[in-house]
Amino acid sequence: MTQLDNLFSADRAHFMHPSTHAHDHASGALPGRIVTGAKGIRIEDHEGRTFIDAFAGLYCVNIGYGRTEVADAIYEQAKKLAYYHTYVGHSTDTIIELSSRIIDWAPEGMKKVYYGLSGSDANETQVKLVWYYNNVLGRKNKKKIISRERGYHGSGLVTGSLTGLPSFHQYFDLPVERVKHTICPHWYRNAPTGMNEAQFVAYCVDELEKLIAREGADTIAAFIGEPVMGTGGILPPPAGYWPAIQQVLKKHDILLICDEVVCGFGRLGSKMGAQHYGIEPDLITIAKGLTSAYAPLSGVIVSERVWDVIDKASQEFGAMGHGWTYSGHPICAAAALANLDILEREKIPQNAADTGAYLLAQLHAAFDEHPLVGEVRGAGMLAALEFMANKDERRPFDAALKVGPRVSAAALQRGLIARAMPHGDILGFAPPLVATRADVDQIVRLTIEAVNEVAAQLE
Ligand code: PLP
Repeated sequence: MTQLDNLFSADRAHFMHPSTHAHDHASGALPGRIVTGAKGIRIEDHEGRTFIDAFAGLYCVNIGYGRTEVADAIYEQAKKLAYYHTYVGHSTDTIIELSSRIIDWAPEGMKKVYYGLSGSDANETQVKLVWYYNNVLGRKNKKKIISRERGYHGSGLVTGSLTGLPSFHQYFDLPVERVKHTICPHWYRNAPTGMNEAQFVAYCVDELEKLIAREGADTIAAFIGEPVMGTGGILPPPAGYWPAIQQVLKKHDILLICDEVVCGFGRLGSKMGAQHYGIEPDLITIAKGLTSAYAPLSGVIVSERVWDVIDKASQEFGAMGHGWTYSGHPICAAAALANLDILEREKIPQNAADTGAYLLAQLHAAFDEHPLVGEVRGAGMLAALEFMANKDERRPFDAALKVGPRVSAAALQRGLIARAMPHGDILGFAPPLVATRADVDQIVRLTIEAVNEVAAQLE
C-alpha cells in the first residue's frame, strides 16, 4: 500500500464526513478527494490535478486562496495571545476593532456584534435572542419564526428546522413546532401560470399574510430570509419582493432576521445583501465571507432597536445566560481583520459586481437558447443554470436521472468545480470574488462542454 492508499483507507475508516453518503464513502464507492493546496481561484488535489473552484469552497473563500497576509495575521495573533474568553466583559484588541469594522460594513441602525463560529450557531443565537426579546417584553406567545421553503439557515435543531429543504428534516423529527414555512419567491418555478413578476410578489405577500392570519400575529416573533437564497438553488428575489415583505412584517410587529452568511462581505457587489436590496433588518447573521474561511467565525449583528430591549432587560433580569467558549476568538478575529483589509483595499465587492455581471451575461449568451437549460439566473457573483426536460412547459427532469449532478461531474472531469445544488437540477456558481473575466471565460467554456456532454447522453 502506498502512503496515499493508507491515507484514503484511514479516511474511510475513521472520518465521518458531513452531508456524505455514509456507506458509499466507507466502502470506497464514492471516490473522495484529498485537497492538498490552493491559490487564487484554483485548488489542487492528491493527484496534482488543479481545478477552478467556481464555488469558492462552500461560497466562502471571498478573497481567494493562499493569501499570506491573512496567514501572517493569524500567526502573529497566535504568538501574542492565542486565546482568552470574552465572558463578563473580557476583551482583546482584535475583537474590539473587528466589532467596529463590522458595524461599518452593516446597513444603518446596527449596534453590536455577538460572535460564534458557524452560520448555524449564529442562527441558533438569533432564535434565542428573539425569544428572549419577546419574553422580556412580556409577549410570552410571540415566539414562532417564519422561514421560507428552500431557505437555508444551517443544520442545528432550530436552524435545521428553519432550513426549508426536506432532506434536512426527514429522520430528524424536524421542523420543531415553532417554525413555519412560507412560499419560496422563485417566480420561474413557483408562480402560477400567467402571473408576471409583480403579480407574483403580491402573491408571495398574500401567502405570508394568510400564514400570519392562520397562526395569529401575536404568535409570530420573526421572519428569517437570505437576501438571495443560496443552497435552495441560487434564487434572486423578484423585483420589489423585499420592500413588500418588510411592509407586512412592520405591520404585524415581526422582527426581520437577514441571513447574510452567503451574501455578506461583497458577494452581491455590495457590502451586504441588505444594502443591495434596501433591506432594513432588526438582526443580521454573518459568517463565511467575514474571514473568507481562513478561520471559523460567525456573528449576530444586533440593531439598536433590539439592543435597547436587551440593555433594559439586563437591569431587571441580570446577565443573559447564553455564551460559547470561543465567542470572539482572537485568532479568528485577526483573520477577519486581515480579510476585511484585503476586501476594502482591493475593492473586491466592486469586482464582484463587475465580473459577476459579466459571468451572468456570458451564461445568458451561452445557454438562453440551449434546449436543456430552462433558466439562467444570478446576482453579483452568484449564478445558476436550471435544467428542464421541457423548457417550454417548464417540466423538470425525473430526479432519478440526476441531470444536475451529472453536469457537475462532467465539469469536474474538465477541471471545473460547479455545484449541483441539492434541490432540483441546478448547477450553481459562486467563484471567489477575485475571479477575472478571463477566469469567467474559462468557467463558461468548460460549462458548455459539460452541459453538451450530458445533453448528448440524454438524447
Ligand atoms: N445560513 C446560510 C445562508 C448558509 O448558506 C449557511 C451555510 O451554507 C448557513 C447559514 C450555515 O452556516 P454553517 O454551515 O457555517 O453552519
